Amino acid sequence: MKRTIGIIGAGIGGLTAAARLASEGHSVKVWERNDKAGGKMNEVVKDGYRFDTGPSLFTMPFILEELFESCGRNLSDYLELQPVDPLCRYNWQDGTVFDCSTDLQKTLGQIAKFAPEDAEAYVKFLGYSADLYGKTAETFIMNPLQTVMDLRNLKKSDIFKIDAFPTVSTRVDKYFKSPYLRQVFKRFATYNGSSPYLAPATINVIAYVELCLGGYYVKGGLYSICRALEKLCTELGVEVSYNTDIKRILTEKKSATGVELSDGTAAKADIIFSNSDATFTYTDLVDKKVLRKKQVSRISNIEPSCSGFVMMLGTDKVFDNLKHHNIFFSRDYENEFAEIFHRKMLPEDPTIYIANTSAAEAGHAPEGGSNLFVLINAPYLTEKLAWDEARCKEYGDLIIHKLENFGLKGLRESIKVREHISPQDFYDRYRSNRGSIYGTSSNQQLSAFMRPRNKSPYIDNLYLVGGSTHPGGGIPLVMMSARHAVTIFNRENDNGE
Ligand SMILES: Cc1cc2nc3c(=O)[nH]c(=O)nc-3n(C[C@H](O)[C@H](O)[C@H](O)COP(=O)(O)OP(=O)(O)OC[C@H]3O[C@@H](n4cnc5c(N)ncnc54)[C@H](O)[C@@H]3O)c2cc1C
Repeated sequence: MKRTIGIIGAGIGGLTAAARLASEGHSVKVWERNDKAGGKMNEVVKDGYRFDTGPSLFTMPFILEELFESCGRNLSDYLELQPVDPLCRYNWQDGTVFDCSTDLQKTLGQIAKFAPEDAEAYVKFLGYSADLYGKTAETFIMNPLQTVMDLRNLKKSDIFKIDAFPTVSTRVDKYFKSPYLRQVFKRFATYNGSSPYLAPATINVIAYVELCLGGYYVKGGLYSICRALEKLCTELGVEVSYNTDIKRILTEKKSATGVELSDGTAAKADIIFSNSDATFTYTDLVDKKVLRKKQVSRISNIEPSCSGFVMMLGTDKVFDNLKHHNIFFSRDYENEFAEIFHRKMLPEDPTIYIANTSAAEAGHAPEGGSNLFVLINAPYLTEKLAWDEARCKEYGDLIIHKLENFGLKGLRESIKVREHISPQDFYDRYRSNRGSIYGTSSNQQLSAFMRPRNKSPYIDNLYLVGGSTHPGGGIPLVMMSARHAVTIFNRENDNGE
């Protein structure tokens, strides 16, 4: 039966769900509080410099390809994906540099220079990570995990082989002797906003995804993915209203019936999909009396992922020591994560990430210049740490100073454009729970089961998509959340035929 479906939010999750539902013939309307689509995937263009403000690395492109195929389209007509090589340049404060590639021989050649004792361990770790992928991808990523029936494909014997008991850090330390490679492999836990010293070793699967399946750039910038999704939605007849803030999900007898807009008007719909953060959806968009206190506190207690402090630097200089993706590591990684997740303070000696797309695309900076997107992992919002312009300026200055010490000589004087995005901005703009950038953290063994489900167990006709829901944050998983929500919707409503 064809339905009228309302979607709150035009982030990657909302747009993916909209395209899938419209391609099945439903009438789909999306409400977005900002003046453009993309949510945390966004872009800023200023004085000839162009920056992606969110994602900079794209993995698992087959998930995006499948979406376009399911809508009767060919992804290559919309986007040009480019493998990135090297995947990342890692820098340490003692001057050690490591260019990591999907090309095993190239990478082993690099490892021979700074950690020859670990060459064999590198290959073995990739095998272990590939094995984890084989045991977990179908069940935990490609599976809606809505009911116990969804667990039927999991081999019971595999439950004890997905390495859920040690932490990422413990397992990595068992494989590698080199402090450099230990830090490289622990960093993958940050891809979903978690601490390697808390997250289960299952997260080591991310190494296989990036180092073996590959990391991609999208011509024009990662925001091109959003543009492609918008185009697809328009072709399929999805209607998007921008500058439309949803204040409330309307319910009757614990069943969603529509939404109330911030101007007080109501819009009816048979089904609601929320791409707003799951915590925000349950605590702010649903009437207090609809949910039990216990249900609200369960949702509110799920730990968000870390947040991030972003600085966009447009320079009139090209830095030869920068590749496309660059990491500048802290000296004490364990302390850095204790600061972020336990002490909830800004790391004094943070690991710094720089995406430099002007290395790949001349048009992203004026000739002779660079567009540096700088990201530092930061604690999610608490009353301990308020964000204002002065803090952004002060912390940004510290980062610039550190980068100069890392060899980016003359950085400060070369800056022509400087913009910041703080954890508070991630909440204010996109309603991310406590400013988190990946949704929920994976800091507990059972995190995969604790994430909010893609169909609300509390309110009928309400589905949830996005990084704060199953299976988690990052572009490919967010797209999977939308696929799962639509699968469950079809299963329960006997649709899609
Ligand atoms: C700095 C940064 C770096 C990242 N790097 C990477 C990376 O390299 N690779 C990667 O794969 N991922 C990365 N991510 C994560 C990735 O960007 C997110 O997982 C993904 O974009 C989240 O999409 P979403 O649909 O879940 O949510 P969002 O992007 O938050 O979209 C939700 C949308 O809903 C709207 N909305 C919310 N509430 C309402 C309301 N009440 N009414 C109307 N509209 C509403 C918001 O405005 C927003 O547009 C990064 C994120 C950030 C911020």
